Amino acid sequence: MGRACPLCNGLTKRREVCACGAMMEDAGPVADYYGSYSPYFNLSFEEPVCRHLFRCPACGREECVTVPLQNL
Ligand SMILES: [Zn+2]
Ligand SMILES: [Zn+2]
Repeated sequence: MGRACPLCNGLTKRREVCACGAMMEDAGPVADYYGSYSPYFNLSFEEPVCRHLFRCPACGREECVTVPLQNL
């Protein structure tokens, strides 16, 4: 019941290409980087999305990617 992030649950892998041409790696949901914020708390008044931080192993660039939640 409820919606969940397909990336957090390992259902899909999202591929992001960095501006430098390298493939960025999924460093996990951004909520983890702001300890006090629960993703479920945020969902009560925000869009049902999960934000993931992608990091480029080549140049170190970081990008926040919004992932729509899906009914699982
Ligand atoms: Zn997620
Ligand atoms: Zn890069």
